[in-house]
Amino acid sequence: MSKFDCDLFVIGAGSGGVRAARIAAGFGARAMIAENYRVGGTCVIRGCVPKKLLAYAAHYAEDFQDARGYGWSHANPAFSWPELIRNKDREIGRLSSIYSGLLARSGIAILEGTARLIDPHTIEVGERRVSARYVLVATGAHPFRPPLPGIEHAITSNEAFELRQLPGRILIVGGGYVAVEFAGIFAGLGAMVTLSYRGEQILRGFDDDVRSHLHEEMGRKGVRILLRSGVSRIDRRADGVLEVALAGSPEGNLACDAVMVATGRIPNTAGIGLSEIGVELDGEGGVVVDRYCRSSVVSVYAVGDVTNRIALTPVAIREGAAVATTLFGGTSVPVDHADVPSAVFSQPPVGTVGLTQSEALEAFGELEVYRTTFRPLRHTLSGREEYTMMKLIVDAASQRVVGAHMVGSDAPEIIQGVAIAVKAGLTKAQFDSTVGIHPTAAEEFVTLRDKELVHRTETV
Ligand SMILES: Cc1cc2nc3c(=O)[nH]c(=O)nc-3n(C[C@H](O)[C@H](O)[C@H](O)COP(=O)(O)OP(=O)(O)OC[C@H]3O[C@@H](n4cnc5c(N)ncnc54)[C@H](O)[C@@H]3O)c2cc1C
Repeated sequence: MSKFDCDLFVIGAGSGGVRAARIAAGFGARAMIAENYRVGGTCVIRGCVPKKLLAYAAHYAEDFQDARGYGWSHANPAFSWPELIRNKDREIGRLSSIYSGLLARSGIAILEGTARLIDPHTIEVGERRVSARYVLVATGAHPFRPPLPGIEHAITSNEAFELRQLPGRILIVGGGYVAVEFAGIFAGLGAMVTLSYRGEQILRGFDDDVRSHLHEEMGRKGVRILLRSGVSRIDRRADGVLEVALAGSPEGNLACDAVMVATGRIPNTAGIGLSEIGVELDGEGGVVVDRYCRSSVVSVYAVGDVTNRIALTPVAIREGAAVATTLFGGTSVPVDHADVPSAVFSQPPVGTVGLTQSEALEAFGELEVYRTTFRPLRHTLSGREEYTMMKLIVDAASQRVVGAHMVGSDAPEIIQGVAIAVKAGLTKAQFDSTVGIHPTAAEEFVTLRDKELVHRTETV
């Protein structure tokens, strides 16, 4: 008989935590899980899933317009934000209960409340204390609110999902993927959107061609993007309108109905006893872990956004499964973070895998870069001025395709397939030997011929 109440205590029933608990239970471990908001976590409740539903909704505006070129005439369709939010809430409620059901059927007890570590093997949730052989911290992250006067008038992505009305004019502060996705959502649904970002270009960390191409396409769809621009204060006028002072921008003051800050996320590690028991945190509060997701305290593991590595759901899920397998499955499984594909569900969307051109240049010194920009067949009849950009980055010496990037319709769906080839280390010749599917945009990835040679210029 074990001296502990359970074998694994998971803090946080989100993407990583739920997967870890279920896999552990599958190996026969006694697992428990604590959740202080809603089972499902960020992805299901206020991240990937509701965001994608809103992005679908936003795209209909263009679809209705584009249909005209295909012979459809239509009355003016009307949009209801409250109905969209109601339907979205119903769906996330359904998904959350599925998650709870999966946990219950695996014999995993769910403790409602905020969990806190008392020592490396003891967790407190409300009045209850539980001892565990291992603890998994899977508490995720929360939106950062920059400390500026009037920040209390701003919303974050959390509140954006629950707005009662669609704002007529919205300022989005930030240039990361959450900012550009919500810019596309609000603009598509009819709001006047301004995006203010203090950097040189949106989507820092992505390939430069992706960044500039998306910037241009978003502009064509009516999103006003202000670069090298920051908010210095927000005031609410008597009539309810928000007055925003924009620093470093010729715009000066901006009047709008909502301000959304999307300026990064902070790991959820404060106040839950981690540093007190000796768990090392990084400069941003993320749990420092090794390749097996083990923290500096041997019984405490951490996965997902709280570790400040790659903040994506499929990565958190992989990490959760790896920890459970390492602890209870008899095999030590490190997590492979190389060539993780990702998407931005902007309008149009982005799909990407592998290295950006500058990362590849740094790594290999000499590259062959294949790039194309074209107007998709669909828009010949729709008349829409929208362009797709696709790019392959090849290491000149080995001929391996080390990066694939796309901005355009269906980019995330297309890149998922290309990611298999990049992960497998295939060469440009192997891409070329694959027959394309015609007529598609995706076939460009196997028919790209014009290359540009790019060399690293060594600084002396
Ligand atoms: C707007 C937005 C859009 C996104 N879109 C995508 C996307 O399209 N694709 C993608 O892959 N990723 C996306 N993400 C990221 C994705 O949601 C996260 O990477 C993922 O949810 C991380 O999973 P996790 O298990 O680390 O944490 P979470 O899913 O955040 O789960 C952590 C859970 O822990 C709970 N918790 C926290 N502290 C405690 C405590 N002390 N006690 C008890 N419970 C606690 C929280 O309530 C939460 O439910 C998006 C994120 C946001 C914010």
